[in-house]
Amino acid sequence: MVFRLACPCCGYYTQLSYSENMPSFEICEVCFWHQDSLTNDSPHVVNGANHMTLNDARSNYEKFGVCKPEFKNMVRSPLPEELPENN
Ligand SMILES: [Zn+2]
Repeated sequence: MVFRLACPCCGYYTQLSYSENMPSFEICEVCFWHQDSLTNDSPHVVNGANHMTLNDARSNYEKFGVCKPEFKNMVRSPLPEELPENN
């Protein structure tokens, strides 16, 4: 069975995982956040994979629609099945 998990940055359910408790390590296609289970618990700590904190990534997503402005062309809109109301 595959679970759909919310991205900690944009909040859309972009992450597919084989366990409810095991985060995936993929890059979110909606905000380009590189999933990292360590940072989810410490959003103020600079994340090795993303070179920024989760808090900064969230505020960038609010402002620019992407976790880092230079990745603006790499992201897409969330799909219907990724919306919080559908999960
Ligand atoms: Zn995301």
